[in-house]
Amino acid sequence: MALTGAYKIVLFVGGVGGAKLAYGLSKLLPPDRLTIVVNVGDDFWHLGLRICPDADTVLYTLAGRVDSANGWGVANDTSQVLTALADIGGETWFRIGDADLATHLTRTDRLRRGARPTEVATELCAVMGVEYALLPVTDESVPTIVDTKEKGRLSFQSYFVANRWQPTVTAIGYEGADGASVTREVGDAIDQADAIIIAPSNPWLSIAPMLAVGDLRARLLARDVPRIAMSPIIGGRAVKGPAAKLMRELGLEVSAASVADYYGDLLNGFVDDVVNPPFEHDGLKIARMDTMMPDGEARIRVAQSLLEWLES
Ligand code: GDP
Repeated sequence: MALTGAYKIVLFVGGVGGAKLAYGLSKLLPPDRLTIVVNVGDDFWHLGLRICPDADTVLYTLAGRVDSANGWGVANDTSQVLTALADIGGETWFRIGDADLATHLTRTDRLRRGARPTEVATELCAVMGVEYALLPVTDESVPTIVDTKEKGRLSFQSYFVANRWQPTVTAIGYEGADGASVTREVGDAIDQADAIIIAPSNPWLSIAPMLAVGDLRARLLARDVPRIAMSPIIGGRAVKGPAAKLMRELGLEVSAASVADYYGDLLNGFVDDVVNPPFEHDGLKIARMDTMMPDGEARIRVAQSLLEWLES
């Protein structure tokens, strides 16, 4: 791909899978060369609080605060509020730890006082010592809606958390995304990027909600730079979460090739895992590497291989 010098990367991420690559890249690139754009389709109101699960997962990961066993939430968090909620018959299906609650309280308070979601995200990064730009793709509300066979139309968190992604998905909608627009900050980062990378996040639940926002897809396509996605499918399975199940339900083969097909002409490069059966697509440069990122060391190694490929 022949990138040289102080090239700039824009990385699109969802939650846990995206945070892993964001972490690896953040250990190799300085803050002025890596901008992370995060999905907001999972964001929702709960108990009066604005909760942004994907942004928080990436934030806690980059801040070194994440609960590494879960991949989300704050390490060693306590659950006194949840226990107290249960005692009074409150809603406890969405688990919020006490330290995590502080994030949601702060965010909600700032939003209610008129701050933009982008400003709040930047402030949260600053107070947690994260020097990288972590930008919501849009400041507007674009909730992901999941149509299911057994339970009808569900809000994203109802599908994902309350129903543990067990209902059969028949369709996915990105409400309001068409009429929404990316923020100025995200637009500027895209215009200045020397490479655009889509993390190995869930294509339908984490990346598509971003690509559905306004003219984002066209804007990315207009950039004549490497536009690369990494496969979230390894060995015919998702590493975590509903991606493989969802692909079967949508009538797709569970493979990296299906993921590349789904992104279509948005991509001119693809990072596949070495264990997957090789495939070829017209117009797509494919790199094959070990993409499994169980720990910090592996995340840096995968990010390093990706950068070496970009530079080669
Ligand atoms: P979520 O919003 O928390 O579900 O997180 P994402 O959408 O960002 O990531 C979920 C996807 O990440 C799943 O489809 C996983 O298969 C993928 N994933 C998780 N860990 C890894 C990993 O170590 N390597 C690769 N290649 N994919 C991973």
